[in-house]
Amino acid sequence: MIHTTHAVFAAALTEVMLVSEHAPISWQAAATIAVAFVVAPVPDIDQPESWVSRHIPGASLVSKFIRHRTLTHSLLVSVLLYLVLFGLGFHIPDWLATGIFMGWVSHWLIDLVNPMGVQLFYPLPWWVKPPVPWLAIGVESPGESLIRALMRVFVTVLTLSYLLVHAPPMLQKAAGPLETYALRWVGLWTWPWLGTVCHVLHLR
Ligand SMILES: [Zn+2]
Repeated sequence: MIHTTHAVFAAALTEVMLVSEHAPISWQAAATIAVAFVVAPVPDIDQPESWVSRHIPGASLVSKFIRHRTLTHSLLVSVLLYLVLFGLGFHIPDWLATGIFMGWVSHWLIDLVNPMGVQLFYPLPWWVKPPVPWLAIGVESPGESLIRALMRVFVTVLTLSYLLVHAPPMLQKAAGPLETYALRWVGLWTWPWLGTVCHVLHLR
């Protein structure tokens, strides 16, 4: 996937996570989504042609030592990152730690639908890829463009719906039937199991 697809997917996933946790409307919630958006393309630092490698000075050196979609896309690094962000007593603000973690994890999650897959259990040599070829979405393919466009719409509609659901009653009344649709849409993307997982992992 290209960097914009990763960024939008991270924003969408983080938003569903916050909605599932019934997060209050706050600058911290907005900052969490923004951080995830910015961090999401970073694991592709292992690819010399990636946006990150081309825009961060010296970043392309990493790809000389690490094969694409191996170490930076592994569960191992995700767990280590989690420990650094939440487990070692660095007192990183929740919004920042959660944003970084969600950005990173969302990256390999969506790379799993790529035909090449991901060496998720690195250093073990197994590549995890879509079970059937027609489910795979190639980098910069029409499928990727379509998914990215749909996710942009999704993020916008969910944001507006969540804001309306938490708006003052006067504003909700003025919105008329839109408020009912917003409530339904937010309800559809409130996943109690995800809220529980995030609570256990202290993601908020
Ligand atoms: Zn990647």
